[in-house]
Parts: sequence; structure tokens; C-alpha cells
Amino acid sequence: MPKGIYNHLNTKTPIYSLKRNRKVSESMKGKKNSLGIKQSLKTIKKRIVKLKGKKRPPFSTEWRENISKSHFGKKLPPFSEEHKEGISEALKGRKLSAEHCEKIGKGNKGKKLSSWHIERLRQSNLGKKRSEKTRKILSIQKLGKKNHFWVDGRTPENKKTRMNLETKLWREANFFRDNFTCQKCKVRSGNGKAIFLEVHHIYNFSSYPKLRFFKKNGITFCKDCHRKFHKFFGRTNNNFQQLKEFLEFKNETQRI
Ligand SMILES: [Zn+2]
Ligand SMILES: [Zn+2]
Repeated sequence: MPKGIYNHLNTKTPIYSLKRNRKVSESMKGKKNSLGIKQSLKTIKKRIVKLKGKKRPPFSTEWRENISKSHFGKKLPPFSEEHKEGISEALKGRKLSAEHCEKIGKGNKGKKLSSWHIERLRQSNLGKKRSEKTRKILSIQKLGKKNHFWVDGRTPENKKTRMNLETKLWREANFFRDNFTCQKCKVRSGNGKAIFLEVHHIYNFSSYPKLRFFKKNGITFCKDCHRKFHKFFGRTNNNFQQLKEFLEFKNETQRI
């Protein structure tokens, strides 16, 4: 076999018989790869640049079946970081044509995932932390018409702002600062008990639009305490003085 980059595209590779292929495959067993050496990231990148934009001739059905057979039941080892980078490099800038997307969509239509499959997807997503940048991209991807909940653009602006990513991040920042604990009654989830927490806008959302995403304008309350606050002070023109009073109430049940 020639060393270096073997360019299949300009050479007509003869189609070998199955018998010969099997023989080669037998002799290769246990070896790292065909050359017995690992390719460096630099080599891989070089090859990718050379192959970019070129189209590989399609596999024949027989070939595909053979690949599928040989892969059946085998679990691939996890990709190394280098390998992942190589793949990402090769896929960069690649866009599926509308026709291709449609084909995939058609193929997936009506397909129902088994509960086993759903559980596996759930497990693999558990505890996954996404960066703020990724979340922004994902959130833009699902805006408006692109969202499967979209009907006819009926969601009012006010509700949109309340649901958007900025709001989510604002809420999370407050939860973390307050250690997921209600700042009034000091309850928090744990020991098998789930406490529903909310973040209260000290200067309320509708009257002070400029302070909506100001981290210091939030405080973590449990659902109960939050309800009590607004029952006493109403929902408009809320301010810091009210919060101070509320936190100082010794026995708020007497005052509400
Ligand atoms: Zn509130
Ligand atoms: Zn509370």
C-alpha cells in the first residue's frame, strides 16, 4: 500500500472480490490500522483540506450491507478529543440541502421512539451543562415559526419577554446567588421534598422595564411566600421598601 495520502478520487480503485477482502481483513486483525501507526491531527487536517468539496462516489448496496453486517452489535470506543476535532473540522460549513432535510424529515415522520430509546436519550442529556453561547443559539433556533408550539404568532410581547432566554438566565443567576433557598422562610428542596421556587422582581416587571434583567432586582421566594407578598402589596409599583417590610414581618399571617 502506498504511504501518505492515498487519493481515491482520481484513481480508479479496482473492485476486489469478497474473498480477497476477507483475506486482507483477516491479516489486519489486531493491528492498529492499515499502516500500524496513528495519524497525527496535522495529517488528518491536511487530508480533510484536500478532500473538501469533493464528492465520494456512492457505496453500492452490497458494500453498504457488508459494512452494516460487520458493524452489527459492535460498540465503537469513545472518540478521542483529536478525532472529535477532526470530525468537527470536516463538517464545518456543511449545509444540508433543502431536499436532503425534507428527505430526513419524511423518513422520520410518524416514527415513534421506544420508551427504552427515550430513557436513553434522557440519561445521556442528564447533567449536561450548556454554555451561554450554545443556549443562545438553541433559543434563536426555536424562535417563532421554527418552534413546534407556534400557532400564528399569537403570543403577546409581554409573555415572550417573560419566557425568553434572558429571563431564564436572570432567574438562574438569582437562584444560584440565593443558594436555591427561599429568602423569607428559608426552605429549600431536599430530603425528598421538592419546593417550588420563584424569583420575585423587587421593582416589578411591568412598572420598571429597565430593571427587568438586573440581577439585584430579584430575590428567591418559595411559591407560598411569593403569593403572600403580592397578596399584601399588590402587583404594581412594588419596591425595595415593601420587600424590607415583608422580610421583617415576624408573623405575617396576622397581617395578611
Ligand atoms: Zn413577585
Ligand atoms: Zn418561603
